[in-house]
Amino acid sequence: MSSGTAVALTKSQSDELNPFMAMSKRFDAAADHLGLDEGLREVLRTPDREVTVAIPITMDSGKLKVFIGYRVQHNFSRGPCKGGIRFAPDVNLDEVRALAAWMTWKCSVVDLPFGGGKGGVICDPRTMSMGELERMTRRYTAAIMDVIGPDRDVPAPDVNTNEQTMAWIMDTYSMHVRATSTAIVTGKPLALGGSKGRTEATGRGVMIAVREALKKLGLNVANPRVVVQGSGNVGGIGARLLQQQGFKIVSLSDIDTAIYKADGLNVVDVLDFIKKNKTLRGYPNVQHITREEQLLLDCEILVPAATENQITSANADKIKAKLIVEGANGPTTAAADAILESKGVLVVPDILANAGGVTVSYFEWVQDRAAYFWSEAEVNQKLETVMVHSFAEVDETAKKFKCSLRIGAYILAIDRVANTYRLRGTYA
Ligand code: GLU
Repeated sequence: MSSGTAVALTKSQSDELNPFMAMSKRFDAAADHLGLDEGLREVLRTPDREVTVAIPITMDSGKLKVFIGYRVQHNFSRGPCKGGIRFAPDVNLDEVRALAAWMTWKCSVVDLPFGGGKGGVICDPRTMSMGELERMTRRYTAAIMDVIGPDRDVPAPDVNTNEQTMAWIMDTYSMHVRATSTAIVTGKPLALGGSKGRTEATGRGVMIAVREALKKLGLNVANPRVVVQGSGNVGGIGARLLQQQGFKIVSLSDIDTAIYKADGLNVVDVLDFIKKNKTLRGYPNVQHITREEQLLLDCEILVPAATENQITSANADKIKAKLIVEGANGPTTAAADAILESKGVLVVPDILANAGGVTVSYFEWVQDRAAYFWSEAEVNQKLETVMVHSFAEVDETAKKFKCSLRIGAYILAIDRVANTYRLRGTYA
C-alpha cells in the first residue's frame, strides 16, 4: 500500500509511490489525447466531496480509542458514487482519493451508471475482535450517514472488509432511516439481498480479462504459467477459476510470504490451508520464496491481486511475464508503465481487469431496487458480456489513439464522464 516503507525515499521515489499522483499521470496522458481543456481537467481531477470522521470506540479492554475514517466521492456526474471501504493501518487520504478516482474511471470503462467513491478507516483489523470491528463499522456508518444512500453513494467490500462488514453497514443505515434499505451497500450476504455470483465476480472478471488478452496477444503456449500475487477474494478466487480453465498456477502469495511449484499448485488445497492456518507459511511440498522474488518468477502471466505499488521502477525491468493482468487497484506505478511498455509486456489495467466486482455490484443494486433476484448463471452470463465488450472497446480505443491499453481505458472512461458533465452543464 501507499508509501509504507522503512527505507528513506527520495522525492521522486515517493512521488512515484503516491497513488493520487499515479492516477493523475495517467489522467493527464489521456486528457492530452482527448484535447480536454484545462477547466474540464480541473473539474474531473478534483474530488467532489471528501469527508473525514472521528470514530470513538470503547475497546474490549474498556478503554476509549479514536479511529480516523474517510469517504471520498470523486465524481457523481454519471450516477451515485460507488466503491469499497477498506480497513488497514496505512490508509491515508491521498490513497483513498486515488482509489475513489479509479472507481469513477472503472465504472465508466464498463459503462455503469455510477460515479466513483472510496472509503477507508485507519486500523489494524488483525488485532481487533469481532465486537470491536462491529462497533467501529457501525459508528463509521453513522458518521458518514448524511453522504451515503442508494441514490447517493453505495459502499462495498474492499481490502479487509467483507459480507459481514456490509451487513453491519446495511443494518446501521436501515436503523437510521427507519426502513430496511438493501441497496445501500453491495457485497452483502445473500440472505440480506446480496447477489449470486458477487463473491466470485472480481476473480471471474480477472479470468475473463486473462482469456481476452491471450487472444489478443496470440501467445502460443500450451498451459501458460501463471503467477498470482495474493490469495484473497481477488487473487485466490481468480487463481481457482483460472486453474479450472486449464491454466497452470505456479505461484501464490499472502501478506507474509509466497510459494512456488514449477509443475503447478493445487489452488483449492492452498486456499484451504490458508483458511485453516491463517498463513501460507508451512505449506508442504513447495518452494518457499519471498514476495519480492515472486514477482520476478519465470512465467507467461502475472496477476498482481494484492495492493498498490508492487511493480515499480525498482523491479519492472526484471519482470519476466509477457502479460500482466491487474487484479488489484494501482499495482503498477506510472514509471513502471513506461519500462514495461518498452519491454513489450502487455498490461491489462486495473480499471478494466478488476471491474468484474463493481459490475456485479451494479447487478446487485439493480436486483435490490427491483426486489427481484437472478440466477447465478444469469449473473455470470451478464458479467461475461460486459467484460468481453469492455475489453474490446478499450482495445479499439488504444488502437485508435496508438497508446497502451491503460491509457486507452482512461481515454474511454474520461471521455464518457466529460460528455456527461458537458451535457449536464455547470450549475451556478
Ligand atoms: N472494492 C471493489 C473495487 O475496488 C468493488 C467496489 C464495488 O463493488 O463497489 O472495485
